[in-house]
Amino acid sequence: MPDLDRVVKEIAEEMADRQDRGEVATYIPELARVDPKAFGIVVIDADGQVAAGGDSDTPFSIQSISKVFTLTLALGMVGDRLWRRVGREPSGSPFNSIVQLERERGIPRNPFINAGAIAVTDVILSGHQPREALGEILRFMQFLAQDPTITIDEAVAASELRTGFRNIALANYMKSFGVIDNPVDFTLGVYFHHCAIGMSCRQLATASRFLAHSGRHPLTGHSVVSPERAKRINAVMLTCGHYDGSGEFAYRVGLPGKSGVGGGIIAVAPERASIAVWSPGLDASGNSHLGRIALEMLTKRLGWSIFGV
Ligand code: GLN
Repeated sequence: MPDLDRVVKEIAEEMADRQDRGEVATYIPELARVDPKAFGIVVIDADGQVAAGGDSDTPFSIQSISKVFTLTLALGMVGDRLWRRVGREPSGSPFNSIVQLERERGIPRNPFINAGAIAVTDVILSGHQPREALGEILRFMQFLAQDPTITIDEAVAASELRTGFRNIALANYMKSFGVIDNPVDFTLGVYFHHCAIGMSCRQLATASRFLAHSGRHPLTGHSVVSPERAKRINAVMLTCGHYDGSGEFAYRVGLPGKSGVGGGIIAVAPERASIAVWSPGLDASGNSHLGRIALEMLTKRLGWSIFGV
């Protein structure tokens, strides 16, 4: 088996030289300020060995990666009743699409497209003030990453609040079907803020470890979720984690994964490792272009695809 640290360092070096980097997201103006040449990768294996390359400690906007953790929290709060509010089928549509909502009476296809994540956030918010719900999400991230310094980038949240017309439309549309319980402004406020959490690859790989180890987080010593639930969350990541690029990601990388428009991706090699990569340039589906390529190289060189070799 090739040496993990060497493979990770080689991939970081190869990525630094590439010219094809994709396009940085600009629809949230604040995200456009990022260095398009940044690249980071961190892999943490079952023994807790950390292999890191590139800008592995630079915080970036986690954006839709937060949806994995809000899904985990919401399932913890209401259990499988959550699936009455949101589906778990791949959408085959862009992350911010509204088209399927009309046919499906306001029930979003899955928890990882924007509509689904907004509905999940609404569940977490119920019975709380927005500030408390947000605090709960942030503390969950800090606990999983074992790092109390993780914060929300207020400039990113404000930028999205000013320009998030699509999400405002999605939330109002779902509200018209009774799928959103709380005032739309409150739900969106929490949603925009959890998307604006800033984390590094190292923090994200650490936070994701429970998904790679049957729900148990080796660093915290806690069972975050049951093995059954970890398996389910990974299944939804595999089928829906990259929107209309989910099939391509499964085909090329072969791991459950979740992307964000900040250019980050987390991926899970069950019982082996948790992985985080970051490169801000995106492909046409809004997934990190070099992040996906780096993960493809990693699983190929290590034989880590869940589908073999
Ligand atoms: N906050 C972003 C949005 O709602 C998240 C999208 C993403 O990362 N794909 O548009």
